[in-house]
Amino acid sequence: MTKKLTIITIILLVFLLGGCSDDAEKPSDKTGDAKATTAQSKETTSPSGQPETKGTTPPETTVQNKSGGSVAFEIPEYEGQPSVEINGNVPQFDDSIKTTESFEEYEPLDKQGRCTTAIANLSTDTQPAPSETRGDISAVHPSGWMSGQGWERCHLIGWQLSGENDNPRNLVTGSHYMNVDGMLPYENEINWYISDTGNHVLYEVTPIFEGKESVCKGVHMQAESVEDDGSGISFNVFCFNVSPGREIDYKTGAVTVVDEEVVSRNAFERGYVLNTNTMRFHYPSCSSVADMAEHNKETVTTSREELIKQGYSPCGNCEP
Ligand SMILES: [Zn+2]
Repeated sequence: MTKKLTIITIILLVFLLGGCSDDAEKPSDKTGDAKATTAQSKETTSPSGQPETKGTTPPETTVQNKSGGSVAFEIPEYEGQPSVEINGNVPQFDDSIKTTESFEEYEPLDKQGRCTTAIANLSTDTQPAPSETRGDISAVHPSGWMSGQGWERCHLIGWQLSGENDNPRNLVTGSHYMNVDGMLPYENEINWYISDTGNHVLYEVTPIFEGKESVCKGVHMQAESVEDDGSGISFNVFCFNVSPGREIDYKTGAVTVVDEEVVSRNAFERGYVLNTNTMRFHYPSCSSVADMAEHNKETVTTSREELIKQGYSPCGNCEP
C-alpha cells in the first residue's frame, strides 16, 4: 500500500517537474520535494494585501506554469471585489521568455477534462484581424458546464487578444461576474496597450480548481509588457468565479439563488436584451444582439426569473 502511494507520488512528481500539465494541481503539502520551485513558492504563498489564515487553513493548490515553475497558490477569500492582487501585483515571468517573439500555448486538459493554463506573448500578430468576427462557441462544454445556470464560457486568453475562438483548452465555466467584472478590464487594458504601442505582452491565465472540483474557484492572471519592462502593463491578480446573490456548487456546476434582491440588482445594472420575435433574451454583449432586427429588439432590466415566467428563454449562445 505504502509502496503504491510512493509510486503514485513519483509519477506525479515526474509530471510536475517535467512541466506536464496533466495533473495541474495537487495539495501543496505533498510537494515538499519539488526543490526546483521552492524559492518561488515562498514568495507567493502569502499574497500581499490578502487576509492571512482565519482559523482554518485555506485551500492551497500547486500551479504549474511556463512563467517560471510551479507556485503554491493560496485561494484568496472573496470579500466583495471581483479581483485581488497576488504577490503585491508583481508578475512572475522567467526572464528566458521575455522576448519579442509572439507565441500562444494552450496546455492540455487534465485527466478530469479541466483546463490547465494558457500562456502567450501577445502582440498585433496574435490579435484577430479587423475583418474577423467572433464565432459560435456554444459547442464547447467546459468542465462543470451545466446549462440554465447562468454560466458563461470564459476564454482564458480573450478572443480580442488571441483570435482564439472555440479552443476547449482555452474555455472555462465561469460566471458573468468573473468574465465581465473580473477579467475584462485587464483584457481591455492589454488590448489597448498593444494596439497603441505595437509592443508585446506576456500573459498567463490559469484557472484554479480546488481538489477535484470541476468548476474553478477563479482564474489567476498575470501580465507584463516586454519592450518597456512592464512600465506599460504589469499585474498579477486573481479573479473570483463567484456570482453575487447566488451560491455555486463547484463540484457539479449547479447554481442556486440565495439572495433574490442582490441578483435582481445585478440584472438591473446590466439589463438583458430581448428578441420579441424569437422570445429569447441575451446579455447585451451577445453577438446575436448585433444581428437582431431593431423592431424585435428591446432592452429591459427585468429579472431573469421574471423573463422566464413571461415566456422568454435564455439564448443558447451567451447563456444569460
Ligand atoms: Zn445571446
